[in-house]
Amino acid sequence: MRLLAGSPEKIDVEQLIADGTQGDYIYMYPPRQAYREMPEASLTEHLRTSFAETADEPLNLYVHFPFCRQICGFCNLYSVPASQQEPFADYVDLLIREVDQWVEWIAGRRVDTLYLGGGTPSLLPVAELDRCIEHIERTLGVCRDKVPEVAIEVAPDTVDRTKLKDLHRVGINRVNLGLQTTSDDGLHRIGRRHGFALAKERIEDALSTGFSNVCVDLIYGLADQSVDQWRGIVEDVLRFGAPTVCAYPLTLRPNTGFARRGMEVPGASQYERYEVARDLLTARGYVQETHVRYVIAGRGGYQQKRNHWAGQDILGIGAGARGYLRHCDYRNGYSIRRRRDALDAYRTRILAGRRPYVQGIPLSADERMRRYVILGLLDLDLAGFTTTFGADATVVFADQIAELRRLGMIDVRGATARLTRDGRKYRDLLVQLFFSQQVWDRVTEFDYLE
Ligand code: SF4
Repeated sequence: MRLLAGSPEKIDVEQLIADGTQGDYIYMYPPRQAYREMPEASLTEHLRTSFAETADEPLNLYVHFPFCRQICGFCNLYSVPASQQEPFADYVDLLIREVDQWVEWIAGRRVDTLYLGGGTPSLLPVAELDRCIEHIERTLGVCRDKVPEVAIEVAPDTVDRTKLKDLHRVGINRVNLGLQTTSDDGLHRIGRRHGFALAKERIEDALSTGFSNVCVDLIYGLADQSVDQWRGIVEDVLRFGAPTVCAYPLTLRPNTGFARRGMEVPGASQYERYEVARDLLTARGYVQETHVRYVIAGRGGYQQKRNHWAGQDILGIGAGARGYLRHCDYRNGYSIRRRRDALDAYRTRILAGRRPYVQGIPLSADERMRRYVILGLLDLDLAGFTTTFGADATVVFADQIAELRRLGMIDVRGATARLTRDGRKYRDLLVQLFFSQQVWDRVTEFDYLE
């Protein structure tokens, strides 16, 4: 990720705004670039401590399926291009073995969300996805019908109406469709093999299948897109009336196809695109849930992310999955240069009965406080901070909050500190003020050639 200055104290928000600088979308803290290789025994000890402390709290499960039809030019998620004969059943066997490893720590805990992400989990046959969920139910004592959000990420060209119905039948209630753009040229330039006509049909199929929540993801700033073209894309998507729409800024990450081709993100106009999305969506009745997500009240949302941003744990399962727990974040391997090697390494560890995690970062009380503020900053629960940490966030982070107030970016009232309309727009710049020096240094030193 791109840091905004030499250290958190040197960030000049006013100058960055004047320059039209866009911050990377920060959806987790610490970011993964702060993870380091850690001995299995040490990570295991941190995890054991975490689970002991949160045994009475709800848990969220994330299962990673690292397979895609193609690798999109902007994407740095961990995934491998799937072959025609990809042995998906073997991968589900590995997931099942991994679930068995976690049982001793989490059996019986209430599960509030189950998210099948990737990659492209919808590439797998529904029977394989069902087998995975069924094993989770049986071993952890979870009943999918009682989990409020059971979600899957879907690429439009991996499903048809029948497959969507099958996904619904096996208990999936939220579908996340990665559309990104409604322009055929734009789809082609990010590497998709389908056009908008097919995606449109699939979104309409999903909306009429009975899922309680359908989310359509868009990215702005792709492929020389003008602000007017972006307006047209948002208008196209508004016609669907999907309960949730996400609009993410394009971020150029090292090692992605776009970065290798020397593509540039169109600077200041990204904020114009943000405003276009915000204004069009809110004018049509969507509520802005975060700086990237818009929901129809009572129908839309993204509960797993909301739960984590409110302080709950996420247990990540699968090759490349990340877990976010009270005392430690971890990752089950990662590489976008040697994708197959990372999958093979995961397989080898699981088959040898070893734990899948290889990287992570222990979280001190200081880092946990920073995480609470960074993830909660849109609508910061100050009373919750005091209850959780026995400290006053406006004292611990007095300098940062004073700066945000001076800039008119935050409104502190009673037990809440809420980003203003401008604060939301610049949220990805503002949160970097709250990074620790330790995380800053780790991100700075990160080797992007992994
Ligand atoms: S954007 Fe989605 S479909 Fe494209 S490579 Fe990334 S995970 Fe795969």
